[in-house]
Amino acid sequence: MDEVGIAGRTRQLLAERGLRLKKSLGQHFLTDRRILDQMMEAAGLGPEAGVLEIGPGIGALTERLAMAAGQVVAVELDDRLIPVLNSLFSGQPHVHIVHGDVMSLDLSRLLRDHLGNCNPICAVANLPYYVTSPILMRLLEEKLPLDRIVIMIQKEVAERLTASPGSKAYGSITVATRYYAETEWVTRVPAHVFVPQPQVDSAVIRLNIRQRPPVEVRDEALLFRVIRASFGQRRKTLLNALSTGVVGEGKEIISRVLLEAGIDPKRRGETLSLEEFALVTNRLDEVARN
Ligand code: SAM
Repeated sequence: MDEVGIAGRTRQLLAERGLRLKKSLGQHFLTDRRILDQMMEAAGLGPEAGVLEIGPGIGALTERLAMAAGQVVAVELDDRLIPVLNSLFSGQPHVHIVHGDVMSLDLSRLLRDHLGNCNPICAVANLPYYVTSPILMRLLEEKLPLDRIVIMIQKEVAERLTASPGSKAYGSITVATRYYAETEWVTRVPAHVFVPQPQVDSAVIRLNIRQRPPVEVRDEALLFRVIRASFGQRRKTLLNALSTGVVGEGKEIISRVLLEAGIDPKRRGETLSLEEFALVTNRLDEVARN
């Protein structure tokens, strides 16, 4: 179906059901066939694949996923959309519509129950923007059996997730994400392809989940504390940012740790790569143990 077709059908479906979209739930429905094609290509699905979709809305992306994958489980929070989705997919037993909040559902269980025999397992979604980072961090930190994640998110967030050290967009979420996944830019998405149109542009990115992290740290929690503290006050030197007590050590020890890790204490947190954060973390860990 062409763009006018998808946009027209979206408006018609909403009007027929008397549905007013809720901004508070980030409801901006995608109506562009080419962007859907690009998301599908990035997901690389096949008959053995299983997909977790977050926020199916009225099913524009779900329809495509259902055609390409062996199993689809789609989690939607808005109870008004559940009957629409159930009737759209009533003849397709491999599509499982689940009513719930993706932030509180037991996702391990959901994947085990519905996608247990699938390979690869992917999360594909046009995410609600009000809750993008928490959803993404949940998908990554829970170490779910996912092979890749293809998401449409706000363009600025996509730029953060794919940024290089030292650039303006590089932040703690960039480094944290890189620990779990390799991130790729797929495409930019203009605001006018959504109904209703959001204020901001979007982008699609793909995250290839790593089998194991690219750096070895003895204490993962300490690594994430170091990363957060280093980005906490962007204009501060690493020495100052890390000596505020967040990692439990004062200036003298932090200065020694940084020098021993081969890092100039005057550098700013936002210039460090994940590998350098790992060096600092392991040195700090050694100091704490002695
Ligand atoms: N997938 C559709 C599309 O591409 O046109 C709709 C995407 S829309 C940006 C986001 C969807 O996520 C909405 O349908 C919204 O109701 C749903 N949603 C919002 N918060 C959610 C949550 N916490 N858990 C599950 N779904 C949620």
